[in-house]
Amino acid sequence: MSIHFSCTMCGRCCHDLRLPLAIDEALDWIARGGEVQLLCDAIVWPQEPLETDALAQHRRRRSFAAQSGRLPVRVTVTLVAAFAGPCPNLRPDMSCGAYHRRPRVCRIYPAEVNPFLPLDPAAKVCPSDAWSHTGPALMRAGRIANADTAALIAQSREADERDRVAKTYLCALLGYDTAALANEGFAVYAPARLRLEAALRAAQQSGAALDDPQPRSSHPWHFITNRSTTLATLQSIGASAGRAEDPSGPAHTPAYLGFFDGDISDSDRLNSLCAPGPLQL
Ligand code: SF4
Ligand code: SF4
Repeated sequence: MSIHFSCTMCGRCCHDLRLPLAIDEALDWIARGGEVQLLCDAIVWPQEPLETDALAQHRRRRSFAAQSGRLPVRVTVTLVAAFAGPCPNLRPDMSCGAYHRRPRVCRIYPAEVNPFLPLDPAAKVCPSDAWSHTGPALMRAGRIANADTAALIAQSREADERDRVAKTYLCALLGYDTAALANEGFAVYAPARLRLEAALRAAQQSGAALDDPQPRSSHPWHFITNRSTTLATLQSIGASAGRAEDPSGPAHTPAYLGFFDGDISDSDRLNSLCAPGPLQL
């Protein structure tokens, strides 16, 4: 089956976003006056996955090793351009004011960067006429048909893998040590722009100098959650964990962006702790 797509320039996809950025893109966004946040999530990682476990290997390439309490974990840090309402680059005529410098993710949309997320037009904000079969093919037989988009997706995945080394330094420099449980939410850090810019540059230099193929955090990590069953389970298996809204938490306690309100069953919780599920990126 083919999916055809042609952008109508409606501008709907340029509002109320947290746009994932590579480090070089984050520095560019900050230089143009934008705000950048760090989204941190982590997963318990009791043993290395098989080479054939494509989903776990995908997560591994985007994360660094760390310790939480008695547990080995993998931490994923995602830099995002954050804005409510229209993107600061969006012009009144819905064109992009930073078209030639827009982030990779803007160039890739509506295709998916995550190889485990099938493209679902119904899940996108693009209007129905953008998906007319008269437009150029975006997907063919489940694969990206547009060569430029395929190249951008490959670059995005390479940047994720490359940047994780610098991100271990970035978190150490900023004193960030808290993550949400993967697939349940994010711990959200919103550092001051100039502080983040300086830390990004320093981390980028350290990461480039060492280019460690197995990056590992130098400090222990702490989980936060808004769900009592998650908290109880994490603590029962030896993780360092607390409630997201606990005012006596660590000094640099981040905000919590949860995907769920209610609790889920203990058996589902145990399964989700060790099995990397659908990722957003
Ligand atoms: S950078 Fe341009 S394409 Fe990306 S969200 Fe902003 S206005 Fe839209
Ligand atoms: S929502 Fe879709 S059709 Fe509209 S501007 Fe964005 S990519 Fe183009």
